[in-house]
Amino acid sequence: MKPIYGGIEAGGTKFVCMAASGPDEIIAETRFPTTQPGETIQKAVDFFAPFLQRGELKAIGIGSFGPVDLDPASPTYGYITTTPKPGWAQTDLRGGILRAFDLPVAFETDVNAAAIGEHSWTPENSRFDPFLYVTVGTGIGVGVIANGRPLHGLVHPEMGHFPLPHDWRRDPFPGVCPYHGDCFEGLATGPSMKARWGQPAETLPDDHPGWDLEAEYIALGLVDMIYAYSPMRIVLGGGVAQHPGLHERIRGKVLRILNGYVRSPAILERIDDYIIPPTLGGRSGVLGAIALAIKLLGKKP
Ligand code: ADP
Ligand code: ZN
Repeated sequence: MKPIYGGIEAGGTKFVCMAASGPDEIIAETRFPTTQPGETIQKAVDFFAPFLQRGELKAIGIGSFGPVDLDPASPTYGYITTTPKPGWAQTDLRGGILRAFDLPVAFETDVNAAAIGEHSWTPENSRFDPFLYVTVGTGIGVGVIANGRPLHGLVHPEMGHFPLPHDWRRDPFPGVCPYHGDCFEGLATGPSMKARWGQPAETLPDDHPGWDLEAEYIALGLVDMIYAYSPMRIVLGGGVAQHPGLHERIRGKVLRILNGYVRSPAILERIDDYIIPPTLGGRSGVLGAIALAIKLLGKKP
């Protein structure tokens, strides 16, 4: 009997649960909206219960929206902490899963899990370290793999809240971040595009000036990340980044903003292979959670 692992991608909008041994051996998968914590965690528990009863389930990994507490020595380890999402502040997400199953449970940020997913399950990515996973969707988040491990720290990196240069004449929009107004998330998420232009990002035509502005903000964010982490590769995903042609525009602007300062052929000659879309489609996070569960048992995904 092949061991099965559980993956949970806990998002602010939806939860994705998967039972699998890897991307090519997905046994079951489900998605449901994120409602109240008790009800939502119970749905995840119900999904995994049959695999536990059959003795197949060996460990569970969680990649969660945050901020989260990643410090195993902290009394609130595994909690979602100060989120403005109603009902979810101080939610013991890891504890809820642990108490239901009594199995090893790995806990990470959603974006670190997605970075692990892209890094572990895609052989072409595995050799790149440091490695970044960036999502631009409902929010903006960045997962960092450094020295083979997801980077934590005081809390965890929060690059979605980078302050960015904001030309108020070109873009008089004040931004939507409840903490900072016109930070990276405030200016460049799907919801900020919708608020600025009065229509969802997916309905903005290709030639709308909003796309050039969007590419500019994402490129500025990526350039800051390139200076800070010197990543060997950046995976850029999320709903907004799916817009056709946006990757190309962003790459061009990254080159222009860097202005030749970072003298690496990976950027100067092969940027198409440096900033790339996710290889696991919409499953980077949940497959990363599976990889975290496998790693927790000391095995290699
Ligand atoms: P989440 O961030 O909640 O996990 P997504 O990454 O799918 O989910 O991001 C959702 C956001 O992306 C929404 O604001 C939506 O308007 C925007 N979006 C989704 N698809 C596209 C698209 N094809 N082009 C532009 N924006 C999109
Ligand atoms: Zn902010």
